[in-house]
Amino acid sequence: MSKRDYYEVLGVSRNATEDEIKKAYRKLARQYHPDVNKDDPNAEVKFKEVTEAYEVLSDKEKRSRYDQFGHADPGAGFGGGGAGDFGGFGDIFDMFFGGGGRQRGPRRGADLQYNLQIEFEEAAKGTEKEIEIPRTEECPTCHGSGAKPGTHPDTCSVCRGTGTQEQIINTPLGRMVNRRPCQACGGDGKIIKNPCTQCHGNGSIKVRKRIHVKIPAGVDTGNRIRISGAGETGDKGAPPGDLFVVIYVREHRFFDRDGDDIFCRVPISFVQAALGDEIEVETLDGKVKLRIPEGTQTGTSFRLRGKGMPRINSSYRGDQHVRVIVVTPTDLTEKQRDILRQLGDELGVKPSEQQKTFFEKVKDAAKDALNWD
Ligand SMILES: [Zn+2]
Ligand SMILES: [Zn+2]
Repeated sequence: MSKRDYYEVLGVSRNATEDEIKKAYRKLARQYHPDVNKDDPNAEVKFKEVTEAYEVLSDKEKRSRYDQFGHADPGAGFGGGGAGDFGGFGDIFDMFFGGGGRQRGPRRGADLQYNLQIEFEEAAKGTEKEIEIPRTEECPTCHGSGAKPGTHPDTCSVCRGTGTQEQIINTPLGRMVNRRPCQACGGDGKIIKNPCTQCHGNGSIKVRKRIHVKIPAGVDTGNRIRISGAGETGDKGAPPGDLFVVIYVREHRFFDRDGDDIFCRVPISFVQAALGDEIEVETLDGKVKLRIPEGTQTGTSFRLRGKGMPRINSSYRGDQHVRVIVVTPTDLTEKQRDILRQLGDELGVKPSEQQKTFFEKVKDAAKDALNWD
């Protein structure tokens, strides 16, 4: 019997992408699955044919050799069994289980991540939140078996429930046994002929689960809170995954943060800066008094000890740094200007020529003109 072209077997074009090949194989593998087609002896032959085609076409190197040499590939005859006898099943396996080679036994549930945004004050004080996460849970109809109630999964006839298949391979060094996951049942050892209608045979359903999260005081953007066991459910008998809540702290209108310390800017008048004063400053614990000493320059920073962010799981708190900005008055009345001019005279500060008003300049010019006479 002559061998069919691998592309023809999978029903794809010669320039099909990896993804197209994978999809085509997945579809045909389901269609010709030996356990689904027990009455059709041709199904198993077909299944082997598509599997062999997939092994070659899903491997870049093997595919390019096949494109070059076809079934007559001189390099493919290791052990006499064709290209795919040894090591090729890993590819099929990866396709069903997402890579990494599967270990026998029930799998732990996947970890989940949830991004949670909180307010600056909530980060400072700690908070509790209710979040809703989409995750999979054991199907309540079939209790995880995947089989319609009243029926049960059948033991895979290919591996007799062991989930593995042994294959004897002739190599130049002698006969070797190659153990691989059963390709008929994917390594589960079971076949579901009457799938549960609620979960379509998956044994699990998607739900939105409400979860209570405790957020400790002092968290910062990027911190992760692990909630053990709140991830995806695992296979029967395996633990669930974990949920990781990743914190994003919103910016504050007044405070900036750097580690445990927080920073703010407070405007004061030049009179307060010159004479000194006591001002009120906003902190995370409410307003506190801050003494501004006489002769404070703009940009001077004052430290409020222990008014910063708490450190997680510690009684330590950072500091609050208050930078004062001296504000120059605008929109002065004529009386205020007079007072400032007097102050300027007193301090020996003379407004420069440019600061004279246009009218004063005109008067000066007139005086000069008169002097000439
Ligand atoms: Zn179900
Ligand atoms: Zn099996």
